[in-house]
Amino acid sequence: MIDIHAHMCWKDYDKDIDDIIARCKKELSAVIVGSARYDEGVKALELCKRYPGFLFPSLGFHPIEGGVDPEKIMELIRKNADKIVAVGEVGLDYHWEKNPEKHKKQKEVFYQFIDLAKQIKKPLVIHSWDAERECFEMVKGLDIPVVFHCFSGKRALANEIISEGFYISLSTMVLFSKNIRKVAKDVPLEQMLLETDSPFLSPEKDKDTRNYPWNIRISAAKIAKIKNIQTEDVLHSAEKNAVNIFNLKIV
Ligand SMILES: [Zn+2]
Repeated sequence: MIDIHAHMCWKDYDKDIDDIIARCKKELSAVIVGSARYDEGVKALELCKRYPGFLFPSLGFHPIEGGVDPEKIMELIRKNADKIVAVGEVGLDYHWEKNPEKHKKQKEVFYQFIDLAKQIKKPLVIHSWDAERECFEMVKGLDIPVVFHCFSGKRALANEIISEGFYISLSTMVLFSKNIRKVAKDVPLEQMLLETDSPFLSPEKDKDTRNYPWNIRISAAKIAKIKNIQTEDVLHSAEKNAVNIFNLKIV
């Protein structure tokens, strides 16, 4: 099984990251280490270098928390284009940002990252909170793989994304959200990926506020129940998709 989006360089893991990766290695085939800020991206490259063939970096820019200098991250992406497996997360966030002027600015930056992903021919991992439709309109027709990370949009839009040949990544939010369970019902296994978005979205917030990559198994069990299939089938197809989309050279 593969978690395609975990922020393993988040400060919450600083004190025991190697223990966590050791457990990940027991349970998963690979983890894609997502990032959305410059410092996090630098840390992700360093961490993945220590676990070649198991951890794979993805560099991105958060539409709100990414900082004031997206160019710095674009430069980092260009310099490490041979090491990263995706550009992302990048995109739009209208959940935390309601100002239309700022939305315009977010779109300008997102277009730059889309162009960059096209140039270096890497998959695009999209952050689209409350701006799923807007993101979709911006990426329609792209001929690189497009992944909607932590998708929480409407079921009808999920179906449009699927028809376009893009991918939907379901997070552990499938455990708490009725809407996402409806989405899970419609997304075919061939276009579904799994992620935790660790350390966020912990399935057992009262016991442990951190999430961990191995928790995709809990999501997979839920999705399997919804689809009336086996958990292993969900995990297996999501792993196969991840290897193909991100061209992972697992060792
Ligand atoms: Zn994320």
